[in-house]
Amino acid sequence: MPGQTLACLARAEEVLGKILSGEMIDDLREEFPAYWGSCLCFLDVPDGASKRLSGLVFGKDPSRVGGLVTVTVDAEQTLLKLNKFPRSPRGIRVFRVWTTASPRPLQGCAWPPATLGAVLRWQHALDKRCERKIEKSVRDSFVAGYERVFCLVTAPRSSYGFSAALPNCRLGGRTARRRFLDRRVMLKSRIQRFTPWRVDDAYVAQRSNPGGATLGGIRIVLVGCGTIGGYLADLLTKSGAGGQGGELSLVDNDVLLPQNIGRHRLGFNNVLRNKAEGLAEELLRGYPTAKIIACPVDAMEMSFRGIDLVVDATGEEGLSHLLARKLSGRHQIPSLTVWIEGPGTAVRGLLRDAGNDACPRCLRGEGGGSIYPVVLGELPHRFAGEGCESLYVPFAATTSVHAACLGAEMALAWANRKSTPKLRTRILEPGFTKGAEDFDPPRASDCSACAT
Ligand SMILES: [Zn+2]
Repeated sequence: MPGQTLACLARAEEVLGKILSGEMIDDLREEFPAYWGSCLCFLDVPDGASKRLSGLVFGKDPSRVGGLVTVTVDAEQTLLKLNKFPRSPRGIRVFRVWTTASPRPLQGCAWPPATLGAVLRWQHALDKRCERKIEKSVRDSFVAGYERVFCLVTAPRSSYGFSAALPNCRLGGRTARRRFLDRRVMLKSRIQRFTPWRVDDAYVAQRSNPGGATLGGIRIVLVGCGTIGGYLADLLTKSGAGGQGGELSLVDNDVLLPQNIGRHRLGFNNVLRNKAEGLAEELLRGYPTAKIIACPVDAMEMSFRGIDLVVDATGEEGLSHLLARKLSGRHQIPSLTVWIEGPGTAVRGLLRDAGNDACPRCLRGEGGGSIYPVVLGELPHRFAGEGCESLYVPFAATTSVHAACLGAEMALAWANRKSTPKLRTRILEPGFTKGAEDFDPPRASDCSACAT
């Protein structure tokens, strides 16, 4: 132990020496949030938003546990996301300044800054233009009668904020106003430092795939809210479906029965309830600002006009063929079909977003067999169900999750214009080998489903 302590001290001495000699600047920039402050601030501001920012303060003191400041372009939407917090936030004046300087602690500046004067001195060394903007905005806020302001500084790759308490300019009349406008008084205003955490829809969906497209802003219809569709709806929502002006419609006219629960996304709290309605309510609990629409109807009665992508997760081949026919024609609608093969032996996905792509019916050869067999050799046949329960194919919930994962991956690949290969197979049961490699199957010219 003493050896480790001495080694730590030696390392600390080395780091301190490098900092004092102006080295390790990049490290200081990277670790800036740790140096800046820990007051909680949620930032519900999408990239490129030009709307006026507003602020909400939850709790008496935002620096205490349970306290929170939120900066937003849409207070109504943000309040929906924060419905677990008490519903009585106070408003706070927010202004935003941009800087080209990446923030980092500086030698010769009081650190961390505790007053407005200390912040301005620090900004003076980093970016004089930013310093002037902050000072002007604070003065303007005071003259406008605000007693508290929040400043959000947007820097390259990061942002940080602070709030400052201002005296009431209406109290004390001209004398108080003059005193504050005396720079020496203003500089003594105490501040609280905030490190913002982004909560806007685009960031939440894109964080796992930086730079990639999400399913936000897209109109998606998911047909089938059964064992595959339930998990798939969840994954599509995590990729942004229903957000940023898009929508996710859930279609199913079936009700959840007790025997479904063992491999369904929903549980006993939704038994005997329509699956689409139960699923929509469940998802909206976690994504309250998403546009998720329950459609408890027969998919064949739906209109798909204006829809960007139809996802068929029914796992029913007959219905997939009927749906393929409905989506074909002069204005073919992109579609994705996912299903389970055998008793959980494999899962498959087929994307169709061009006129010469195969539909699920095109994969069937003469006599009904698959042209592109899922496995080498025969698929096993297993059934369960006794007494008054009808026969069913037994597979675990994990199989449905695999199918949902494949569907979500293919939907996201389509959104990123990387739809190839359009027929994908994942073998799940040990001992089986894929019967056909993943590729783009062509449309069958005599297909009874997609022939136009
Ligand atoms: Zn076809």
